[in-house]
Amino acid sequence: MKITFLGAAGEVTGSQHLIETETKRLLLDCGLFQGRDSETRPKNERFHCDPRHVDCVILSHAHIDHSGRLPALYRAGFRGPVYCTRATADIATMMLRDSARIQEEDARYATKKREAGEPKICPLYSEDDARKVCRSFEYVAMGEWEELASDMRLRFRHAGHILGSAICELDLLEDGQWKRIVFTGDLGHRDKPLLIDPETVERCDVVITESTYGNRVHRDAGDVKAELLRVVSETVSRGGRVVIPAFSLGRTQVIVYLLNQLRNENTLCRVPVYIDSPLATRLTEIYRDHQQDMDDDVRTTLRFDDDVFDFDGLTYIRSRDESIALNRVEEPFVVISASGMCENGRVVHHIKHAIRHEQNTILIIGFQGRHTLGRQLVERRDTIAIFGRSCERRCQVETINGLSAHGDAEDLRWWFENLQRRGGAGKAFIVHGEDTAAAALSQLIADCCDESPIVPQMGDSFEI
Ligand SMILES: [Zn+2]
Repeated sequence: MKITFLGAAGEVTGSQHLIETETKRLLLDCGLFQGRDSETRPKNERFHCDPRHVDCVILSHAHIDHSGRLPALYRAGFRGPVYCTRATADIATMMLRDSARIQEEDARYATKKREAGEPKICPLYSEDDARKVCRSFEYVAMGEWEELASDMRLRFRHAGHILGSAICELDLLEDGQWKRIVFTGDLGHRDKPLLIDPETVERCDVVITESTYGNRVHRDAGDVKAELLRVVSETVSRGGRVVIPAFSLGRTQVIVYLLNQLRNENTLCRVPVYIDSPLATRLTEIYRDHQQDMDDDVRTTLRFDDDVFDFDGLTYIRSRDESIALNRVEEPFVVISASGMCENGRVVHHIKHAIRHEQNTILIIGFQGRHTLGRQLVERRDTIAIFGRSCERRCQVETINGLSAHGDAEDLRWWFENLQRRGGAGKAFIVHGEDTAAAALSQLIADCCDESPIVPQMGDSFEI
C-alpha cells in the first residue's frame, strides 16, 4: 500500500492525498490551492494522478481548500463516488457552485483585461461541472462503519471544525491483512459553540494529521458571548451601529447563535440585526436543517426555541437594494457581512459607511491576513485605504478571539494523548501546516507513534 501527498504538504491549502492498494486508488480530499493566482493556477490545473483511474474520494469537510478541486476532477474524467457526511454534501454543493461562479467571473474579467494577442483565460471548471460532481456525493452516517467494498470500510467521527466535518477512519484489506488509516481532516477545538467536540480514535497503523496551529496556543478568549454583549450594548447606547465582518461559513452562524442565546436570556436589547451575505444566508438554512446534529446546548435550547438561528428583529437580507438601504438607517443596528477579512463583498461598503463616525464599532472576530483591510483595522490605524481611497477612522475597533475553527497546540496534544492511551499509531504524517508548525507538532506527538513522524513534501510517496 502506498500514500502520495499531492497537496497541503508544507502548506495549508490544496488538501489531497492519494492512497493506492493493489486493487484501489482513492483520494483523501480534493482541495483547491488558494493564494495568489499566478502561484496557485499551475498547481490547480494539474492532477498528479489520472482522474479517470481514481476509484473514489473521501471528503473530510466542505471547506474549499479540501473540496474545491472536485469539479475539476470530474471535468478531467473522474466518475466515482465521493463519500462524505450529509451535512458536508449539503454545504459543499453550495460552496462548489459558488466557487465555480467566482472562477467563471474571474476568467471573464481576466480575459477582458489581457494584452492583445494573449490567449483567452478559461475557468478551472464551470458551474455545470460543480453540479455534476455534487451528484456523486454518497452519504456516510457519522459514527457508523460503512462497508464500501469487501476490502474497504469507512467510519466518520466528529472533527468539531465546521458543520459536517469528519475525522476519517479507513480500513483497507491488502494481502489478507487489514490496515487502519486515520485522516484527521481539520480538527476543531473543544467547547466550540454549536458543534459536537472532536472525537478521539483508537490504535491505527497510519495517522495523517493537520498541523495548522501545531506551534501556537490560542490566546485565552475570555467569555466570547459576554464580550459580544458588551460591544453591542455599548455601541447601541452611543447611538451607533456595529459592523461584524465574518466568513459566510461557520463564523456567521456562531455569532447569530450567540445573539439568539443573549435574546433568550433577555440580556440583549432589541436592536435590529441584519445578515447581509447571500451565501451566508443560504448556508444558515443548511445549519438550520442540521440543528439536531449539533451539541447538547443547541439541543437543550431547541426544547423551547425551535430555531437557534432566528429571533425577533433578525433579518436575512437578500437583495443589493436592501443592503444599500442600510447605509441610510440612522438608528443603531448590527450587521454581519462577508468577507471575513474585509477584502471584498458587501462588508467593505458597510465599513466605508461606519468608519467616519465615533459612535460606530467595527468588531473583528477572526484572523486578518497581512495587507488586508481587516489588518489595517485591527492595527487601529488613523487612516485606512478603502477602494483605493484613504479614509479617516473615527469609529471604534474591537476584537473578539476564541472563534477559530482550528484547534491549537493544546487541542492537538490532548487528541494525541488520547490516541496514545488507546494504543497509539504506527506511522504519522504531518500535513496542512507551515514548516515550523509541522515541526513543532512532530515533536509533540513523537511518543505516540512507533516511528518518527514524517513531514512530507509535495509529491512524496511512502509505503504504508
Ligand atoms: Zn477546514
